[in-house]
This record gives sequence, structure tokens and C-alpha cells, in this order.
Amino acid sequence: MVRPRRRIGVLALQGAFREHIAMLDRLGANGVEVRLPEQLEGLEGLILPGGESTSIGKLAVEYGLVDGIARMAREGRPIWGTCAGMILLAESAGHPDQPLLRLMDISVRRNAFGRQVDSFEADLSIPALGRKAFRGIFIRAPLIEKIGERVEVLARLPEGGIVAVRQGNLLATAFHPELTADTRFHRYFLAIAS
Ligand code: GLN
Repeated sequence: MVRPRRRIGVLALQGAFREHIAMLDRLGANGVEVRLPEQLEGLEGLILPGGESTSIGKLAVEYGLVDGIARMAREGRPIWGTCAGMILLAESAGHPDQPLLRLMDISVRRNAFGRQVDSFEADLSIPALGRKAFRGIFIRAPLIEKIGERVEVLARLPEGGIVAVRQGNLLATAFHPELTADTRFHRYFLAIAS
């Protein structure tokens, strides 16, 4: 019997959600744009994309999505935040006025690489994905500054900064796997979702 395609939501309020949907579809899942709370029902996972974390956070509050996303996390459904999405998952991001979901025990620093280094790429060693390096694309990226006991580090920059973590069913990356042709990180997420 053919297994029905898994429905994975991508928060589509602002930012780079189309690229995630294209990647999910390439991997045989069904990427679904999410803008309303009822669209969270029946999803087997959710991706919070990159973009502008303050805008996405404010819109998520306005659209009434915060409780539903927190419920997904509690129910053990996987959630993955990339870049701005990672900031939204954090417990703190250093801006008291910015709405956050606070689902992961991490503290992040926004735009951690400063104005001079707006964007850069780096080869990352990510043992969870295999031996081949993963090309990390960083765009005005945040850095993870503090992690709690239950948080597992998946990747660091060569200089040591933490850029990918997992806490049970929750995943966060400071970089943008959806902007590469490498599908391994999306496969890793889908494996948590199965
Ligand atoms: N700098 C953005 C923020 O702080 C994140 C950038 C991104 O998602 N590419 O929200």
C-alpha cells in the first residue's frame, strides 16, 4: 500500500517559506502553507522559516497561532526553526519587546556576525547527517549563545559558535538548508516526524 504523503506545515507569514515547501515536495512530503491556527490540525511537523523574526513573531500573535504551535510541541510533533525561525523558538533573544514562542531552552543573539559580515557560507561538520560536510548559508544569522541541559549540539562553526541544536522533537539551525541543493537536513527532520 502506498503511504499517504506526510503533511508538513511551513509557517507562511513572511520570509523564505516557499523554498522549504519546494524541498519538502522534492522529498515526497506534502509541504503546506500555514497562516491560520486551524491549518495546524493534522500536520505531522512544522517548519518556521527564515525572514524577520520580529515581523513573523508579531504576525503569529496577531493570527492567533502561538497556542497551537506550543500544543504541537507538547504533543511531540516535530518543529524546526531556521534562522529567524530559530530565534522564535528561543527562550530569549535579548530584545524584551519581541514576541517569542520560547519552546527551546536556548538563548540566541540576533545578527551575531555584525554588519560587515552580512552573509557568509561555511562548511559544517554535522555528524548526525553523515561524514560529508554540509554547506551552511548564513544570512544576517543569529548565534546560539547558551543551551540548557536537554539540548544537544548538532553543529558548530569552525570557530566554535553553536549553529544547530536539537531538543527532543525540536530542531533549530542558524543557517538555511532550504537554500542549498543538499536535502540531508530536511530528511533528518522528516525522520523525526515519522
Ligand atoms: N536577522 C533576522 C532576524 O533577526 C534573521 C535573518 C534570517 O532569517 N535570515 O530576525
